Amino acid sequence: MPPDRGTDRDSDQGYLRVAVAAPLAEMFDYLPPPSVPARRIPPGVRVVVPFARGSRVGIVIRVVAETAQPPDKLKAVTRVLDPSPLLAAADLKFVLWAATYYRCPPGEALFSALPARLRRPEPLLELAPAGWRATEAGLAAELGRAPRQAEVLALLASAPGGIDDDMLRARLGGCAAALRALAGKGLAERCRIVPIVDAAPAQPASATLRGAPVPNDAQRAAVEAIAAADGFECFLLDGVTGSGKTEVYLRLIAQTLERGRQVLVLVPEIGLTPQLAGRFRRRLDAPMAILHSALGERERELAWQRAAGGVARLVLGTRSAIFTPLSDLGLVIVDEEHDLSLKQQDGFRYSARDLAVRRAQLAGCPVVLGSATPALETLHNARNGRYRHLRLPRRAGTAVDPKILLADIRAQPLETGLSHALLTRMEADLDAGNQVLLFLNRRGFSPVLTCHECGWVSDCKHCDARMTVHRGRARLICHHCGANRPVPVHCPYCESPDLRPLGQGTERVEQTLRQRFAGVPLARIDRDSTRRKGELERLLAAAERGEYRILLGTQMLAKGHHLPGITLVGILDLDHGLYGSDFRAPERMAQLLVQVAGRAGREQRPGTVLVQTRHPSHPMLTALLRSGYRAFADGALAEREAAGLPPFSHQALLRADSPVEQAAMDFLREVLAIARPLAAPAVELWGPAPAQMERRAGRIRAQLLLQAPSRALLQGLLGALLPRLRALKTPRHLRWSVDVDPQEGL
Ligand code: ADP
Ligand code: ZN
Ligand code: ZN
Repeated sequence: MPPDRGTDRDSDQGYLRVAVAAPLAEMFDYLPPPSVPARRIPPGVRVVVPFARGSRVGIVIRVVAETAQPPDKLKAVTRVLDPSPLLAAADLKFVLWAATYYRCPPGEALFSALPARLRRPEPLLELAPAGWRATEAGLAAELGRAPRQAEVLALLASAPGGIDDDMLRARLGGCAAALRALAGKGLAERCRIVPIVDAAPAQPASATLRGAPVPNDAQRAAVEAIAAADGFECFLLDGVTGSGKTEVYLRLIAQTLERGRQVLVLVPEIGLTPQLAGRFRRRLDAPMAILHSALGERERELAWQRAAGGVARLVLGTRSAIFTPLSDLGLVIVDEEHDLSLKQQDGFRYSARDLAVRRAQLAGCPVVLGSATPALETLHNARNGRYRHLRLPRRAGTAVDPKILLADIRAQPLETGLSHALLTRMEADLDAGNQVLLFLNRRGFSPVLTCHECGWVSDCKHCDARMTVHRGRARLICHHCGANRPVPVHCPYCESPDLRPLGQGTERVEQTLRQRFAGVPLARIDRDSTRRKGELERLLAAAERGEYRILLGTQMLAKGHHLPGITLVGILDLDHGLYGSDFRAPERMAQLLVQVAGRAGREQRPGTVLVQTRHPSHPMLTALLRSGYRAFADGALAEREAAGLPPFSHQALLRADSPVEQAAMDFLREVLAIARPLAAPAVELWGPAPAQMERRAGRIRAQLLLQAPSRALLQGLLGALLPRLRALKTPRHLRWSVDVDPQEGL
């Protein structure tokens, strides 16, 4: 591009300020392509720009009249990728707000908010030929004697761009015969639905609820309170497992759709979406888009376009769906709001839950955070009045709360981790024709292999961790870095053949159970057994139909699944979480325990939960058992307050790692020296200290914690500190990052 075009420009022509897809804090100004005035390229459009010695994709943020860059250094945009904006002004504003808050470079944040295909210089996919429109003849036709066809044709005639198949079904129900007849007469035809760029204005979806149970008083009160919200308001829907939170969502969704607005529902796990999506489909007629990371790139982009273009009225997705452009947003729901997977742990480290609140605020609509075990942060916000606290205290319908029992396994003989008490109960429940769920949060056969002769253990070469024995794949695998090798036959150190697996994972418990309960159909559900696409859905659906009598799994099984036949839940080992070093460990354990327990007795048959522990008098367990999650949370919040920990303070974590010993610690010491004079007296700086697992994937890791009594103080420090850190010359092997409101590794 000729670099001198900028010098003789009309003053009203302007420059394009572009956020480039690169980890750089600043934006760059470009000239428009030759012969296109800048104002013809609106914000939100993707462009290709020359960058360094190559080229990059970027997004136009605004058109500016002046630039601080010397005009003769300015280059021109090479290509404009989109005919009109992918992100509207409000969407840009939201993502850039999030980028600032989480201290993520704007280009990186914007591009991680787009479907993966659009992060590359690819044009938008055209939506498949997925609709119908009236032909010229159809627009003029009178269909007096075919009322159904007339009805369909009238709807088609009202939408010049055609109507999406889903929308047609939503508005009119099954109408394939009428459409065929109309097509036969040349009055209607198949058409492509125009992509997002000039989608037809949104049509209100008919959103009658099918088969809704009569709401109980608590449900009705919750629906009424939320429906009465005038603009933005945040609600905590605090309802025990099985209390009918999803029914509350469904009613609110139906009402919002009927008002012609869109609804965004976030769930923590891909595994949860099929069940919830199925329930939404059975109960609502609205055109829906599902967005999660297990979709292929094309599928995902098309779903995104249908949402962004207003075709889909209900969007259900995992955390990144928070960035879906929705111009008519009228309600945001975050289900299982306490769940850790709503926080992105690398790159753009945002909390989809917290962003949901911000997004609803910008859109001026209510947001509902639902959980049986609300995060302490959320409970705190409910107590100080920022969120409104709605409770569903009892299970809906006829189900009663499960009974929780502790099995003290100190000095008890265990059969692959299973106590006599648990096995006896299992027999009784299986004999009675019920289902049993066993929970063990450790996959693989056993967490370590040892040599009985010399004491060798299967350490990972790259991490401060042991390699797990996987029998199914006959390999030792490190769960932290993925390193793997065949299970050795002889000790690598003394060559003894007497190698023994120590402890148990799900594979090993499965083996024992298959012997002990021969002939009882069993499903193991963990990351290994559900690797194949669709396998998790298949296993869960079969479990729901009662085809498996024993379900054994990791925390994948703890999440919101509705499995009505389960009467007994056995928790094999909770102890390793009781004494974790992270200050959130007790909160996480309590949530997990209550969530797993919530799988028991969800319908007519009452449920029992048996927790095996060597610490039956641990304060968290006793508080939880005596008076439930609420009492536990009260105690935990009091402790946090006394210790000045979140939510009574705000944190950011600076992490650094390098393959070189000491490099991360040295860097963070330098950071500390820079930060100290910038920090207000009330800000505390902790560390630097080695990370919990100091060596991981061959890199030695350290961290520095910033803690402040207010968000403003913390953000102020980050704002002053980070530009200086970015300007530091650091060795190539050193990586560092910042995590605002960190959730792990504390
Ligand atoms: P949650 O989302 O709180 O776990 P769900 O909405 O899944 O609870 O409800 C649990 C079960 O109770 C479901 O089978 C649901 O159909 C049923 N249910 C919910 N509300 C009612 C009600 N008001 N009357 C009868 N059954 C209900
Ligand atoms: Zn040995
Ligand atoms: Zn490793």
